[in-house]
Amino acid sequence: MISYEKAPDVEAVAKKIIVVLSLAYIDQTRLHFYRSRGSKSRRVQARIHGMGRIWFDALGMLPHYIIEVISEEYDRLQQTEKEKVVIHELMHIPSRFSGGFVPHRGKINRRSVDKMHKEYTEKSSTLNSILETQT
Ligand SMILES: [Zn+2]
Repeated sequence: MISYEKAPDVEAVAKKIIVVLSLAYIDQTRLHFYRSRGSKSRRVQARIHGMGRIWFDALGMLPHYIIEVISEEYDRLQQTEKEKVVIHELMHIPSRFSGGFVPHRGKINRRSVDKMHKEYTEKSSTLNSILETQT
């Protein structure tokens, strides 16, 4: 059986990425993070969940997303790879935050994720040096 628990560590990784890359369209109050254990899926490190727009309308709520990391795969990755996994999932969120998904095709792949991660690394090191000179 699959068990789920909240994943504040993944949330922290995502929050930093969102701030550093200025992904302002991502409403962090409507983005949730879970860790699952006991999944049968092999080689899947994470996935993103949403619901069809009709659900949000019926429930009278705005769209939410859930990023789920699969403990057996995600937890053994190194920090850089974890960041890339989170970036990949964040890239599935469209800029309208509509509840739908950006498909992989032509947009989300090794190359585009690596490019975004490179930008993230560069910007966070700039940010760190600014913070260091201020203290
Ligand atoms: Zn994907």
